[in-house]
Amino acid sequence: MSASTEKTILSIVTIPDPRLKEKARPVGRIQKRHRQLLEAMAATMEEAEGVGLAAPQVGVLERIFIAQVQGEVREFINPEILEKSEETEDGWEGCLSVPYIHALVPRARRVRITALDRKGHRFWLDLEGFDARVVQHELDHLDGLLILDRGKKFYEVPKAARHRVVFLGTPEFSVQVLTGLYDKGLVPRLIVTAPDRKRGRGQKLTPSPVKAVAQELDIPVLTPEKLRDPQFQEAVARVRPDILLTVAYGRKLPPSLLAIPQKDALNLHASLLPRWRGAAPIARALWAGDEVTGITVMRMREKIDEGEILKQVAIPIDPEDDAGTLAEKMARVGVEALWEVLEALWDGPIPGEAQEEGRATWASPISPEETWLEWGAPADEVVRQVRALTPEPGVRTWRVDPEGERELWRVEKVEAVTGEGEPGTLLSAEGEIRVACGKGAVRLLRFRPQGRRSMDAEEFLRGHRLKPGTRFLSP
Ligand code: ZN
Repeated sequence: MSASTEKTILSIVTIPDPRLKEKARPVGRIQKRHRQLLEAMAATMEEAEGVGLAAPQVGVLERIFIAQVQGEVREFINPEILEKSEETEDGWEGCLSVPYIHALVPRARRVRITALDRKGHRFWLDLEGFDARVVQHELDHLDGLLILDRGKKFYEVPKAARHRVVFLGTPEFSVQVLTGLYDKGLVPRLIVTAPDRKRGRGQKLTPSPVKAVAQELDIPVLTPEKLRDPQFQEAVARVRPDILLTVAYGRKLPPSLLAIPQKDALNLHASLLPRWRGAAPIARALWAGDEVTGITVMRMREKIDEGEILKQVAIPIDPEDDAGTLAEKMARVGVEALWEVLEALWDGPIPGEAQEEGRATWASPISPEETWLEWGAPADEVVRQVRALTPEPGVRTWRVDPEGERELWRVEKVEAVTGEGEPGTLLSAEGEIRVACGKGAVRLLRFRPQGRRSMDAEEFLRGHRLKPGTRFLSP
């Protein structure tokens, strides 16, 4: 690229610079330097992702502004508003010279504006709504007025929400964290998630839960097959992220991707690291019978889950918790923990603490074989298996009646009770469904017979009878 095609980016004057409070003087003869100024202002506005920019905002006290109106960037020299509707409208405005402040500003709904273009030709525009608002805002700059002078109400963007964040995540847990951060004011610049997959019986191509929400929130989303793909990495670099934030994205990030963010690469992990590193920390903690688990905000390294710890919060496991309720608690606590870390990172780099390698345990992914209910295990363990794998991926078993007919059941809630018998034997079907385990028995409280909806035992028994001699079997 030759130097002549490179765009000049000007530095934007911000409060409390006194130039923002001065009245700009009219342009006399439009000269080459004005045209150069307009080019540079356009490049500066584009880079700053603004919709308007006035010359005083780049330190030039002349009556010139540019604004995106009627779908294009227009140039206004010596602008004047000729007519204003009496009807006004309140709207939230930001300003490149007043960073991180939004103001609720009343503006005329419609204006007629006139100005000169860069050739000195006069033009007139009738603008309304947002377009009318933008030119009123820019014209204010030429008179030394800011949204701080006009606003009725103000909102300051919290520090945590000021970072340019690229969010990487895939399942429902990521959605809960993403929407939790969004509700507090953090809007990621870009979301990265797993590609659409064939799901369900219809084998229809279905977006990941995170992709679905990204589209609802109108945030750009990428679904790369390969993270090393240079086109993908360029797209990430283009948003100039301060922070990469992964929450259950499910894949290792290559060093070339980890090197992109200006400030840090963070991961929210659903355990108290170094316990339960790996893909299934919530399920493994429940299945192991842990009484306490928690969340860890860590610095991402190439080796998954081994980075320095920035913050940890313990969460007690309630005996009633399953993977669904525990994940919800973790997402809530995780959002607050991430928020604290992001707030701190706005003021500068923060130190982390190395993990104690000696205490590390591995939460391997749940294999398909593990989703069969283990009738041979003690009742307490069966209860933990069901809690660990519910709602996803679920626990299955066959109901086999005495004639040998089989039906697949998804077991969603059980409790340990007394009882004795060959594992999988139906011990009672009167007002309850009690089945023998390796040690003790369990009562089936909620389940979903194949092709039907989830129901509790009481509801099922109102419509069905389980014959004596029925057994529950897992292969
Ligand atoms: Zn402004």
